[in-house]
Amino acid sequence: MGKIKSLLIKTRFSTALRAHKCKANSKHLISKGDFRLEVKNDRNWDKYCRVCSSKIFKENNKNWNGKYDEFTTEYENLSL
Ligand SMILES: [Zn+2]
Repeated sequence: MGKIKSLLIKTRFSTALRAHKCKANSKHLISKGDFRLEVKNDRNWDKYCRVCSSKIFKENNKNWNGKYDEFTTEYENLSL
């Protein structure tokens, strides 16, 4: 098997070079040096604070597992 197709949006982690607001909630301030999650959005990177990043991962895990369950169920139904 060759290169496996990725189904994930590009993400990366970084520390803020300057203080700025969180993309998900403008009341969340990301201070200089804080950990942040960056999510590719066209040519830009949306940046999220640690609290929102954690929520994003938890929610995406749920959706991801649900999607995989859906896939296996569909596959099994078609293979009968
Ligand atoms: Zn946030």
